[in-house]
Amino acid sequence: MAAMTSSAHPFLNRRLAEFGTTIFAEMSALAVSTGSINLGQGFPDTDGPEEIREAAVRALRDGRGNQYPPGPGVPELRAAVAAHQLRRYGLTYDPDTEVLVTAGATEAIAAALLALVEPDDEVIALEPYYDSYAACVAMAGGTRVPVTLRPHTEGGAAFRLDLDELRAAVTGRTRLLLINTPHNPTGTVLTREELTAIAELAVERDLLVVTDEVYEHLVFDDAEHIPLATLPGMRERTVTIGSAGKTFSFTGWKVGWVTAAPKLITAVRSAKQFLTYVSSGPFQYAVAEALALPDAYFDAFRADHQRKRDLLGDGLRAAGFEVYRPQGTYFITTDIAPFGEKDAYAFCRVLPERCGVVAVPNSVFYDDPDAGRSQVRFAFCKKDEVLTEATSRLQRLVP
Ligand SMILES: *Cc1c(COP(=O)(O)O)cnc(C)c1O
Repeated sequence: MAAMTSSAHPFLNRRLAEFGTTIFAEMSALAVSTGSINLGQGFPDTDGPEEIREAAVRALRDGRGNQYPPGPGVPELRAAVAAHQLRRYGLTYDPDTEVLVTAGATEAIAAALLALVEPDDEVIALEPYYDSYAACVAMAGGTRVPVTLRPHTEGGAAFRLDLDELRAAVTGRTRLLLINTPHNPTGTVLTREELTAIAELAVERDLLVVTDEVYEHLVFDDAEHIPLATLPGMRERTVTIGSAGKTFSFTGWKVGWVTAAPKLITAVRSAKQFLTYVSSGPFQYAVAEALALPDAYFDAFRADHQRKRDLLGDGLRAAGFEVYRPQGTYFITTDIAPFGEKDAYAFCRVLPERCGVVAVPNSVFYDDPDAGRSQVRFAFCKKDEVLTEATSRLQRLVP
């Protein structure tokens, strides 16, 4: 059913009929109407670095970006994106031909799929999937083919990709693999072994890859983020997506970017120019400064979120949830089976009344209705006192 609810949308066309209202709108409205703590939608409740906010103010005052910026993005930001990919990953991109600035990662995903997918092409996406993937594949006229990440309990990632299942999903109609690592909502960080298998498959079957790496800076413990584009044969077939919203805690600025080979960038830009054309002028200058922040910023950002993960994770476990320990992202996926409950959607609908906390059911991120039926996602990108209060409220669930 994809990540949406089925309220009446009498004018919505057939392609989008199953995507009425996102789960986030529904659950955030419930948070407001019940005065609950919202751990549903993944946005930080603390803004990013003060000096980056000031950089945006300076750009506004100096009249930089107040009119349409250049279609591909301001040169300062394109140069900063290229410098970041080089500094962090050793990847070389030409700022003029291989970088495109977008209205957040959301527009990057939409533009990539609208540009690269022919009607009736199949697009393989990891399930549970980020909710815009299914809608964008549908808008592009493609067919989504989910490959399910499955929970397990021995060491490493709590959810695992079955590489045989992935290989078996590729058909003569498969056009591209839509990958997301670190993965929302499960917190899985794909390993070098898994990424290598994905890369070999893409090369062997001549597939394009769109990889959503918006949580590249949020990896915990000894997990490592490895960009798919760094693997053999991948640079020329991979569209990599990043986001200032996630990396610098400015989700309202809607600054994202794409790095890829020139022919892929040209294609994605063609679609992007008819979506927003351009966006976020002054913020682009500020994000250029943010990307050049010293490693200490990124280290502290990661350590802070790892601590918050543990704070919320301990509280959820104490309340009785089964907790799948995430290696990355803003999110913890739990299972409600220990409460004798089976239906995450029903559970999340009454949770605000029972406890004053909002979460989202992972079941809406699956095509397979049984795969995630009892999974519930909580966001930990919140102030410590908010997480502490939420977990103390959730202790009411303890039988
Ligand atoms: C938040 C998120 C996005 C959207 O990022 P924006 O830059 O806010 O548009 C894309 N993909 C995933 C997996 C996300 O969690």
